Amino acid sequence: MTPAPVHHPSTETLAAYAAGTLRAGFDFVIAAHVRGCAQCRGEVARLEGVGGALLAEADAAAMSEEALMQALARIETAAPPAAPARTIEQIIAAAKKRWVAPGVWTARIDTPHAKDDRVYLLGVAPGVQTAKHTHSGAEFTVVLQGALNDGGVVYRAGDFCERDPDDTHHPKVEGAETCVCLFATQGRLVPSGVIGRIAFALADV
Ligand SMILES: [Zn+2]
Repeated sequence: MTPAPVHHPSTETLAAYAAGTLRAGFDFVIAAHVRGCAQCRGEVARLEGVGGALLAEADAAAMSEEALMQALARIETAAPPAAPARTIEQIIAAAKKRWVAPGVWTARIDTPHAKDDRVYLLGVAPGVQTAKHTHSGAEFTVVLQGALNDGGVVYRAGDFCERDPDDTHHPKVEGAETCVCLFATQGRLVPSGVIGRIAFALADV
């Protein structure tokens, strides 16, 4: 049995996720963590409950009979429901691997995101040096397989990691298994060093 995740999103991030206001693409990474984390599932359910109760109060106060009729009319003219949404697992499984360096592959994730953001998988074999880099924006990561050592902190399958803009970091694969992570990255990465620049230019995710 997989041990429970140790590193979780902040309450602010989970609240934004529960409210549906999280940046597109970043919500996918949170969903990937939440599906495997009983603690965060409970927290999201609690936050959704809080949000729902607030909305219900506002609705009760604001909804006149006329507004109610308009709302009912909108429901009647609404488009038929779309095809069932694919699960996170299906979306991840459909991602196409591209080898960008020995022991390193990337795969673009087909989920809505802002034009300059990227949502992708990165697989790195043990012993491969990854590029030290800085971000121009926020980055969310969930480890899907193996483990990652970032500045002495070890992130294992299911763990979540959030990076702020201007953080420079140099994550390394921990252990003997290929590490696969799901990323949402805002803006471009700013790799340090020639190898980093080549790897990320090739990756083009
Ligand atoms: Zn969690």
